[in-house]
Amino acid sequence: MSIREPGDVLIVGGGIAGVTTATSLREGGFHGGITLVEATPACTDHPPLSKRALVEGATRGELDLLTKERAAALNVEVVVGVEVVSVDASAHTVLLADGRVMTAEAIVVAVGAEPKHPVGYGDHPRVMTLRGYDDAMAIRAVAGAHSTVVVGGGGFIGAEAAASLRESGSRVVLVDPHEVPGSHVLGDTLARWLHAMHSEQGVEVRHTRIDAVVSDAHDDNAPMQVALGDGSTVAADLVVVGVGVTPRVMPGAERLVAPFGISIEASDHWDAARLDGMDAAALLLGTTPALRGTPWFWTDRYGHHIEVVGDLANAGLTGAAIDIIRAGTAVFRVDGDLLLGAASIDDPMTVRAARRIIDRGVRVDRDVLADPSVSLRRMLRG
Ligand SMILES: Cc1cc2nc3c(=O)[nH]c(=O)nc-3n(C[C@H](O)[C@H](O)[C@H](O)COP(=O)(O)OP(=O)(O)OC[C@H]3O[C@@H](n4cnc5c(N)ncnc54)[C@H](O)[C@@H]3O)c2cc1C
Repeated sequence: MSIREPGDVLIVGGGIAGVTTATSLREGGFHGGITLVEATPACTDHPPLSKRALVEGATRGELDLLTKERAAALNVEVVVGVEVVSVDASAHTVLLADGRVMTAEAIVVAVGAEPKHPVGYGDHPRVMTLRGYDDAMAIRAVAGAHSTVVVGGGGFIGAEAAASLRESGSRVVLVDPHEVPGSHVLGDTLARWLHAMHSEQGVEVRHTRIDAVVSDAHDDNAPMQVALGDGSTVAADLVVVGVGVTPRVMPGAERLVAPFGISIEASDHWDAARLDGMDAAALLLGTTPALRGTPWFWTDRYGHHIEVVGDLANAGLTGAAIDIIRAGTAVFRVDGDLLLGAASIDDPMTVRAARRIIDRGVRVDRDVLADPSVSLRRMLRG
């Protein structure tokens, strides 16, 4: 069953999931009204925020996922700068923070996640998280050649922020208690390669945790004292916290039931969120969702582009998975002759071929995987 034409769809949240829902509805031939409500001043793409936006200061417009022109061409009404407070699934309404009530036949909630901010990190204005455009610009305003930045957390956001802030000339101290941050997602081999880049690029890496951030109550501009678990203290101009995210909760959204409403779960990676948006549109239209390939994502740091597909961290079906290394540019996780996951540094074609190999269950030859002179496409042809 699909929504009745010409019903209206209201989408809450203008991240990649919400915007893709809107564009996919139109591409799927939906002629009803589409309204998208976004809390911030624009539908901002997030991945560039820890990369070129921090280093080069991109404008909000450059990162806009749904410009006025594109929205007009798609006939999507975009309402920005106002939060949706709650959803009433049975009445098909949403309540906005400015008191307006909007009605739609179907409601899609795609509000993503927000960064965690542990208590010990304090609430000083220069203790910041990085999620939206304003966060990136606030960090950029303090960072620079004469500043010391403590980055708490060496996961994706922390690691990318550390790399960008280093590139901007800041002294960067990266604090994470794990010897190899990210190994639970990236596997030990790749996570080690990536983590080693920090020290090679002049970031001071401390394997401990932040115990407390102490600031001068009388002087907002004075450096903060960041007390670390190893007993040392770092005087910092800025603390960037990257210790994970929590899905945002929209009151009432849990009662949305397709095809009259969908609550899209927050995804850790951009491509998964985009596919979730496509699935939501298909569900509303009553069409078959597109087949998903093996999960894929990327991360950029210190001028390197890293792509990852599949599972690099688990032990495989037989519990005997091993890593095969291709001369420092790629790593493959195999179980027997089955490819479980792959990652590359500055070699996206290898990961794309690996994705097709995993999708099709093509058997792999370990010698070919290890040999950088042989293209992976040979296995696909075989
Ligand atoms: C700095 C940064 C760098 C990243 N880099 C990468 C990367 O390199 N590779 C990768 O694969 N992934 C990356 N990601 C992750 C990726 O961006 C997310 O997985 C993706 O943005 C999730 O999309 P989403 O639409 O589900 O949620 P979000 O992008 O979080 O979008 C949700 C939107 O809803 C809005 N909203 C929230 N509450 C309300 C409300 N009450 N009313 C109205 N609107 C509301 C928010 O303002 C936001 O615009 C990065 C994320 C960040 C923050």
